[in-house]
Amino acid sequence: MKAVQLMGPEDVRVNEVPDPTIQLQTDAIVKVSHTAICGADLLPYHGYTPGFEFGTILGHEFVGTVTELGDAVTGITIGQRVVNTSMTSDGTCGHCRANRVTQCDDRALFGYSGVYPKLDGGQAEFVRIPNASRTLWGVPDDVSNEDAIFVADILPTGFAAVQRGNVSNGDLVVVLGCGPVGLMAIIASVGVARRVIAVDGIFDRRKLAESLGATAVEPGEATAKLVNQLSHGIGADVVIEASGSVPAMQSAFGLARPQGVVSVVGAHFEPDFPLNNGVMFEKELTLIFSVGNPTKDRERMFAAIQSGKFSPSKVLTHQIPLEDAAMAYAAFDKKEMTKVVLVTGA
Ligand SMILES: [Zn+2]
Repeated sequence: MKAVQLMGPEDVRVNEVPDPTIQLQTDAIVKVSHTAICGADLLPYHGYTPGFEFGTILGHEFVGTVTELGDAVTGITIGQRVVNTSMTSDGTCGHCRANRVTQCDDRALFGYSGVYPKLDGGQAEFVRIPNASRTLWGVPDDVSNEDAIFVADILPTGFAAVQRGNVSNGDLVVVLGCGPVGLMAIIASVGVARRVIAVDGIFDRRKLAESLGATAVEPGEATAKLVNQLSHGIGADVVIEASGSVPAMQSAFGLARPQGVVSVVGAHFEPDFPLNNGVMFEKELTLIFSVGNPTKDRERMFAAIQSGKFSPSKVLTHQIPLEDAAMAYAAFDKKEMTKVVLVTGA
């Protein structure tokens, strides 16, 4: 089969590799139709992921059809259209039993190695699914592949930013970074918050944010001024950091109101960060980090899509043949494409 492998820093290739096979009776095999590139894929792409094994097949967001099932898989049938959860979990460890499935002792992230145990991803024609009864979810007939793929990771991640940030009725919310995850946080906070301010340096991303119901503004002075004006100088109730950048983290503490929340869903791997404890203490700020939890939230996400409240595919800017993955990665990395889905030939 064809698979997108990261062979070295910034060296993405579509290679011919053996088809995956069932290894445990809890596995399934999925024939992938649509598979997205995520901002988190850019970390190994640039060689920032400690211990990443080159040759790993990338991709942790995909939709496809079940072609093989181990004997122990329940709730999923051959031929069913399914979406994955970005991370696997066993359902039985202490974390899973306490509803912390993203911290599962057995967790692995599709398309990653090094920071998690190696698990080949879904940017391929076929992918092996561990713990398939939990890792796969049937896509309802009335939901398109283009909407469903967002349930694998980034829609629950945007939702987690809003929910764990405790966004409440009437809040002023600032979303720093209008990449795909920031845009999902906007989708999830519009309708709950009084006002959502979307901050990004790229014009097209600000336009997308506005089309989703946010008020978009450029980073820096313009953002501070707008937040001041809309909050009568009090500050934002919740600042969602969705860019994964250090300057955005730093600006978040200034934009948040006293006793406000800084809710981080941008991926951060820098070991040292100059946290200003003085500001944290004076303002009594809450700082919370989240990765999305598709296992917990996917049913609710599908319900919101089916009801028309959430239309995540609005942010899908490019659909590209799997064969052109190297070009797609380069363009996505340069932010020339906002959200990219690779489509297999099938
Ligand atoms: Zn577990």
